[in-house]
Amino acid sequence: MDNDIILLDCPVCGEETDFEILKDPPEAVVKCTVCGHVMRVTLKEPKVLTVKAVVSYGNDSHTGTIDLIEGDMITVGDYLVAEVGDESFSVEITSIEENNARRQKLPAEKIEVLWTRLVDQVIIRASLNKGAITIPLYENVEGNKVYTVDHITSVGGRQFRVTRIKLRKGNIITRKDKTAEAHEIKRIYGERS
Ligand SMILES: [Zn+2]
Repeated sequence: MDNDIILLDCPVCGEETDFEILKDPPEAVVKCTVCGHVMRVTLKEPKVLTVKAVVSYGNDSHTGTIDLIEGDMITVGDYLVAEVGDESFSVEITSIEENNARRQKLPAEKIEVLWTRLVDQVIIRASLNKGAITIPLYENVEGNKVYTVDHITSVGGRQFRVTRIKLRKGNIITRKDKTAEAHEIKRIYGERS
């Protein structure tokens, strides 16, 4: 299957399922991979916001940017990727600024500055399907660790085959042998073979 896959609510299955994209957005035609139901949907490209970020390490700090998706809720303690010059760094959010006030939690579009500290590691999250149940897994890994679709990997001490990878940018990669680095990944989906 070469078409991209997105998660949508299927009115026939009555739950969120994988849909194959038969015709590209915005006026997309999609097909449920579970029951075969075909429907038209208007898919909006997620809007990316570039927010100012201060990245500190030790006594030093640099100003860069972090890309956020409109509508995402950002919380102190979240791990994100900051761009400083041409380089990307994994950072932890230490404070969120809006109108000179510091906040614990804010939707992306309201954030003026993200205060962060450099971290070597990122948290990788995975959902492992095993029969009818889904097991949530997470693990601290190096930000540049590579994950590959259709290959065997392990997260949180469990081995599984990667079926698809959801990226922070919002898209999902499903093609065999496609790769992504840990810092780019929102969630890995896998199944126990
Ligand atoms: Zn369905």
